Amino acid sequence: MLTRRHALLALSAASCARKPQDMNALAERYVKLILAIGHHDANYVDAYYGPPEWKSSQQPLDRLSTEASSLAIAIGGITGGDLSRQNYLLTQTQAAGSRIRLLRGEKFSFDKEAQMLYEAHPPGVSGAELEAGRETIDKALPGSGPLEDRYAKFDARFAIPAARVDRTFKAAIAEARTRTRKWIPDLPGGEAFDIEYVKDKSWSAYNWYKGGAHSLIQVNIELPINIDRILHLACHEGYPGHHVYNALLEARLVNQRGWVEYCVYPLYSPQSLIAEGTADYGANLVIHGEERLAFKRDVLFKEAGLDPTLAAEQHKVQQMLRALRHAPIQAARAYMDGAKSKEETLAYLQRYALQPKAMAERRVRFFDEHRTYIINYSFGEDIVANWVQRTAGQEPAARWKAFVEILSNPRTPANLL
Ligand SMILES: [Zn+2]
Repeated sequence: MLTRRHALLALSAASCARKPQDMNALAERYVKLILAIGHHDANYVDAYYGPPEWKSSQQPLDRLSTEASSLAIAIGGITGGDLSRQNYLLTQTQAAGSRIRLLRGEKFSFDKEAQMLYEAHPPGVSGAELEAGRETIDKALPGSGPLEDRYAKFDARFAIPAARVDRTFKAAIAEARTRTRKWIPDLPGGEAFDIEYVKDKSWSAYNWYKGGAHSLIQVNIELPINIDRILHLACHEGYPGHHVYNALLEARLVNQRGWVEYCVYPLYSPQSLIAEGTADYGANLVIHGEERLAFKRDVLFKEAGLDPTLAAEQHKVQQMLRALRHAPIQAARAYMDGAKSKEETLAYLQRYALQPKAMAERRVRFFDEHRTYIINYSFGEDIVANWVQRTAGQEPAARWKAFVEILSNPRTPANLL
């Protein structure tokens, strides 16, 4: 089948072939386009550490739409350059064009929007699959009454007291960093991040990359955070997740190769599937199985002031929860396609993601704010995990090598399928 991309490449090659050295100029146009879209969408520019003078004054969306189209054709017309770089820039530019269409008020189905912004076809999740996941957890949790209530009671026992969140988070970060450095010894010198605790956000944590191998990590402490979540956040936002990903892109692509397109990160773009997918996959890669249990029991439970004799049971139930991890995608799909109301979506998340009402409400707020972005987590993780498995097998050194390959090269979701 002739895709839109093939058509663009053919059209461009026939009419206006450009030399590889033109790519840097097109990359600069791409950065300026992303920054210009940011005037219309406060969430869009997630990170930017390039020249300040590239930020323009506000331009109308129809002009930006024309620029996105002509830039895509120009990128497609380059011959003889680095193909992975060219493909990345083209994919990102086309997604920017899609974001402009949404900002202009065009409406698409959930699946269509996900494909336009993230180059991905998120899976459907059957009710039977989720019911089976619930049943397994149901058998593992003692007592009577609805599973939602029993799970909430069980999980509350592993919530970290507010006064101990910071020390527990820092202990998790220290472990994740040590383990990551073992496999990626050449992390940029001076890499570091600051931590802030915030409230009233639709997310549970956020990495704001500042450039110069420096991040700001914000953690939302409005709702209780449990032991597994704090460890996940340390890995996902820090090591080997977003902080490492951004620092490697800056060091290896922006600084070493002069590929300026990486000094900007548009949130609603295929790059986010790579970013979230690697962050979730990396959180498991860096510490899993018995080692994860031992670290939680011997270090995190102590830091949090919780009873370590409960660690094995907590760990077992956490593993079972993974059977429900795609439930939020299904919830978002039904909500955004109008098949379920807000109240029905809250009930669905409580039943199939086993989230207490306050957490389900935060999740729906996330859907309202970031829409199809939700696919990038569990589905992105699956794509990354499958690719690493296919190319590297089980051996840890090979898996880390494949993982770093994704973290530090131009990759789009389609490259990993
Ligand atoms: Zn993330």
